[in-house]
Amino acid sequence: MGWHTVDRRISGAVLACVLLATGFATGCTAEPPADSRPGTAARPVPSARLPRGDAGAQVGAEAAYRKWGITPLAAPPAPPATKPTGRAAAGGRVPVISEIPTKENIVFLTFDDGAEKDPEFVTMMRELKIPFTMFLTDSVIRADYGYFKKLQRLGNSIQNHTLTHPNLRTLGAAAQKQEICGQQKKLKDRYGTMPRLFRPPYGNWNENTRAAAASCGIENIVLWRESMQIKNMQYQGAVKKLHPGDIILAHFRGPSELKGTTMTRMTANLLRHIQEQGFTVARLEDYL
Ligand SMILES: [Zn+2]
Repeated sequence: MGWHTVDRRISGAVLACVLLATGFATGCTAEPPADSRPGTAARPVPSARLPRGDAGAQVGAEAAYRKWGITPLAAPPAPPATKPTGRAAAGGRVPVISEIPTKENIVFLTFDDGAEKDPEFVTMMRELKIPFTMFLTDSVIRADYGYFKKLQRLGNSIQNHTLTHPNLRTLGAAAQKQEICGQQKKLKDRYGTMPRLFRPPYGNWNENTRAAAASCGIENIVLWRESMQIKNMQYQGAVKKLHPGDIILAHFRGPSELKGTTMTRMTANLLRHIQEQGFTVARLEDYL
């Protein structure tokens, strides 16, 4: 199988989570077992991200990036004709993935929970046209569903992160199903499309989670390889760098959780790390 299941990895992982004043645990990182993979040399990424062959648009893109303190990321390669990752067969086990098999220097951005609703982030992503995937929790977003609609309209998908952000390992099968299927329905009602990806809070799941997810129509459980903090990335593996196909976890967080840093500044830091290592951002749904 081409995708990488994390069963063996997560078994050795120590999970650490940050509890917010809201009472919702939103920040979760899996401290990985020693798992050094063969390194992949970063190669230069010469072409600017937006539209090739159009000098005027090129200048516009560079100006947009400059406004946010970064230079344009390279254009991602064309999506593969055949998606390299699996999905659950009818009645089968839902694959659990934390990276996409690829040799390209691309990574995938995911933003979780939905606590911070910074209008500047909408502006930033509209201007930069960076694709990302949102994993949203109903209890965190229900005060302002409309905020995420704006991000969805930019072409970014909204996926499932449970109704109330529990540690699913502490719940039985029926309660897990309620958390996942309940959020499927909420997101379908609010945003018009049924999620097909699910991220368990804290990265915690078990076989009941896979069964529940399958019964709710989920095709893939999506974890992550690296996570974005405030200024720095937290890397798995002994070598502190990105790998082709890494899925990166970030959160909708604002100054109260980021020690005064805004969500847009955190995102600029994130993009800078990606760019400095010769990577660019591709759309997860093109590969999954
Ligand atoms: Zn979360």
